[in-house]
Amino acid sequence: MFKRVLIANRGEIAQRIMRACRELGIETVCVYSTADKDAPYLRDADEAICIGPGPSKDSYLNISRIISAAEITNADAIHPGYGFLSERADFSEICRECKIEFIGPSPEAMGKLGDKVEAKRYARAAKVPVFPGSEGEIEDLEEAVKVAEEIGYPVIIKASAGGGGRGMRICRNEATLRTNVAKAQQEALAAFGNGGVFIEKFLEHARHVEVQTIGDKHGNAIHLWERDCSMQRRHQKIIEEAPGPLIDRKKIEKVCEAAAKLIKSADYAGAATVEFLMDEDQNFYMLEVNTRVQVEHPITEMITGVDIVKTSILVAAGEKIPHKQKDIKVNGHAIECRINAEDHTRDFMPSAGLVETWRAPGGLGVRIDSHVCAGYRVPPNYDSMIGKLIVWGEDRNAAITRASRALHEFEVGPIKTTIPLHAELMQNSDFKKGGVDIHYLERLLKG
Ligand code: ADP
Repeated sequence: MFKRVLIANRGEIAQRIMRACRELGIETVCVYSTADKDAPYLRDADEAICIGPGPSKDSYLNISRIISAAEITNADAIHPGYGFLSERADFSEICRECKIEFIGPSPEAMGKLGDKVEAKRYARAAKVPVFPGSEGEIEDLEEAVKVAEEIGYPVIIKASAGGGGRGMRICRNEATLRTNVAKAQQEALAAFGNGGVFIEKFLEHARHVEVQTIGDKHGNAIHLWERDCSMQRRHQKIIEEAPGPLIDRKKIEKVCEAAAKLIKSADYAGAATVEFLMDEDQNFYMLEVNTRVQVEHPITEMITGVDIVKTSILVAAGEKIPHKQKDIKVNGHAIECRINAEDHTRDFMPSAGLVETWRAPGGLGVRIDSHVCAGYRVPPNYDSMIGKLIVWGEDRNAAITRASRALHEFEVGPIKTTIPLHAELMQNSDFKKGGVDIHYLERLLKG
């Protein structure tokens, strides 16, 4: 087992990883930028080390500084968390060259599943349902037109190297497709340094359903069932829940099994999420594979009892997954509300600054994953998420009632947060019915 793990991240996920390490008897080193120097969660680490100024490129994204920090502090492994360097195959590779274990997939496995076009190839082979569309990247305009005719409009042009919801164009007829292919290629080249684009069928009404999987270095892989993350704004998830409401359990079981097979076929060790869109007839189409732990992992932990972060540390250290697929059962229902420092009444304007009041809820079935407390100053440099409220209930209604109750207790000020928005959404009759699509929240906000 590792002796010391360096955490190459910040905020709530740094704290989450430190919690897992401490329970496993592993020492922690947490890196920080000067913008985070006074953050209380750093006191949980056995050692904290400054790696540079506030801008991410000079600190949390600076590979040589992070590797130096690991070498100086004698860390034998690095956990990248999510965001920052977590999906960089070159970082995983450099860790290997420096004989530091990267807690996550090998650069080879990341290359296979982290690339959208490659991932689709592996998915087809593992019988994971994918979108109808081009086999790989589009070579020329006529090929694009031919593919679109075959699958039918509307279609979406996507950048192979795209991410964060950028570089996508919806085309509803041949004329728009003809004017957009070259533009999309140029845009992709400028934004991602790779002009490759592909085409797939565009779904008008879809839900976002994703499957949590985990693999080890002995060729085993299991799934931990699904999450529904359809409540989104600008492709950013706001509320997630597990299991997915109103989903045919037989259908989803097949999809989950295929997802586990997919990561196994890529010799993938670590936690991975296979993301799908689901249409109104509950057909699934794979979007992409996230080769890291995700923000919303706690809801899966709540319904399965599996500690995903601990398990991924164990498998990185070479242990077998300590769970059998047949023992992974869905127990009750869990919901996560992302608490962002934003004013949702003013177009989600960021609201950084001093937190004077922080009264977090508690009680049975309530979990708070947050690094914030009264006196903490939210730096303006990073993502606006300041914590996650996760609730568990014996069924979906109980979970919604509990979330409402917890949000009622949750007091944060004077900075603005998304707590009032969540409180409203927990009362929303469409949400209560279950099964809202990925554009629901934007329609609601537009009024
Ligand atoms: P990114 O890596 O940029 O997040 P994704 O492929 O995951 O790209 O897609 C981001 C979002 O774009 C999806 O969550 C969905 O809202 C929308 N989207 C992507 N592909 C399609 C599609 N084929 N049909 C409908 N919506 C799509």
